[in-house]
Amino acid sequence: MQKLALVGLGASGLFALKELAGVHVEVHVFDVGPLYSKRYPCPIDQGKLEVCPPKACSYCAPGQSAGSWNDFKVILSASPIIGGRLYELIGEEELQRHLDKVRAAILEHAPVEIPVVKPNGEDLEWIKKRATLAGMTYYYQELLHCGSDNAPAINSSILNEIASVGSNIVFHWDTQVVSVVRRAEKFVVSYDRYRKGGEPCEELFDIVIMSVGRGGAHWLTQQEFYKDLEIHPGQVDIGVRVETSCYFTEEIDKRFYEPKLYYRSRHANDIVRNFCSNPRGFVTPENHRDYVLVNGHSKMFEKSENNNFAVLVSKTFTRPFKDPQLYSQTIAKVVNMLAGGGPLIQRLGDLRAGRRTKSLVNNLVQPTLEAECGDISLAYPHRILEGILEYVDALDKICPGVSGDATLLYAPECKSYPDSIVVNKNMETNIPNLYIIGDCSSWTRGVGQAATSGMLAGEGVRQSIEQASTVLA
Ligand SMILES: Cc1cc2nc3c(=O)[nH]c(=O)nc-3n(C[C@H](O)[C@H](O)[C@H](O)COP(=O)(O)OP(=O)(O)OC[C@H]3O[C@@H](n4cnc5c(N)ncnc54)[C@H](O)[C@@H]3O)c2cc1C
Repeated sequence: MQKLALVGLGASGLFALKELAGVHVEVHVFDVGPLYSKRYPCPIDQGKLEVCPPKACSYCAPGQSAGSWNDFKVILSASPIIGGRLYELIGEEELQRHLDKVRAAILEHAPVEIPVVKPNGEDLEWIKKRATLAGMTYYYQELLHCGSDNAPAINSSILNEIASVGSNIVFHWDTQVVSVVRRAEKFVVSYDRYRKGGEPCEELFDIVIMSVGRGGAHWLTQQEFYKDLEIHPGQVDIGVRVETSCYFTEEIDKRFYEPKLYYRSRHANDIVRNFCSNPRGFVTPENHRDYVLVNGHSKMFEKSENNNFAVLVSKTFTRPFKDPQLYSQTIAKVVNMLAGGGPLIQRLGDLRAGRRTKSLVNNLVQPTLEAECGDISLAYPHRILEGILEYVDALDKICPGVSGDATLLYAPECKSYPDSIVVNKNMETNIPNLYIIGDCSSWTRGVGQAATSGMLAGEGVRQSIEQASTVLA
């Protein structure tokens, strides 16, 4: 029997594994994180901690499958713009077919009924007209919002089902893959116990699926095979998390939950977009080991009086600069430095007036995350801030009140995307039997398409194993 290593069991790895359960291949799954049932909810949310632990924790860190544990919003529409670029790779029909399977799997395993958020004809007319008048472009999407509180049950139930039919699967939890090195046509995978340390073990595999997420993307670039992959440089998104009253946005929240609205800045012709809306949600820190970003989430049962969402300005770079991730991390670290180690918060009115926010006492919008009051313009490039301000002003035409002085901006909210790795329609790279899926491949940017890319790889491996066994027979 051939041996396959699946490195990383986040959104993409889980759905790859679903396809491989019961197939004639010995699958070894490696994940740094603990068993799903032992992954814990955010300790800050539970009131057990006031600030993030010094090490990134499994709730929020991108290296720990954040999106399928945190908020767990799943985009279900095959879009050329939203959630990733698989549309380019496999086309609308195939993408939609796979997203429908993701939807079915999640709904089947959900402990409560989760409604699909789907705009109707009247809502579409409503938003298209308002967006056009505001100078924005609206992109259609349907989504599932599972909520952080339902995430553990859904993920664990999918995994339990896989384990029950997957006698071919061996799990290595709390296990970090240290390196993957080619040996002739095979791969040597070295791994050790993440928290306990000790001598790394080595095993030889015929097939490797890399699904280490955005958190593992840098590690991927350090691997022996990386220099032989065909790649294109990645992109960064730099922006802020906006927190405002839920009453300013309630009309679009009610109709869409999260309408995707794109804007081209007059100042620099940059694309500016909203991302990850959390009506009645909470802003959270996103703790990477050496810097802290902000993010947001919402829950099915506990609600705030605010809405938070990201406004992001996209940037790509041309020669000679080749490290967009370093660029966004450097900006994030400057913000953290000014804030004494964490995120900064500033009133929109103060940013416009060119002064630092000193206090939020009596501010109309009260923050859901305690952050240091300050001045974001000391850390962010002018071009980025102009794009953000233009965007919020345009949005105010659709949601009056949003660009009021009391609206809060948190920084840093940065997303960097790894190099885009050239793959075939089953996510196999130009190195035979090496598949790279999910966010570390840069083809995906959210749970829905990450899961889809996993399915594509799983299907590809399954088909090639079935074909090989037919030939042998
Ligand atoms: C705070 C936060 C909230 C988010 N919310 C949403 C949301 O609501 N909806 C949405 O669509 N997207 C969301 N996202 C994005 C989403 O998390 C990703 O798009 C998605 O998880 C990508 O799936 P993946 O399988 O590529 O990677 P991940 O889900 O990140 O999984 C990677 C896995 O690899 C493991 N790993 C990494 N390196 C190694 C190694 N060396 N050895 C062994 N294991 C390793 C990690 O432990 C992890 O389990 C969010 C992201 C963040 C950071």
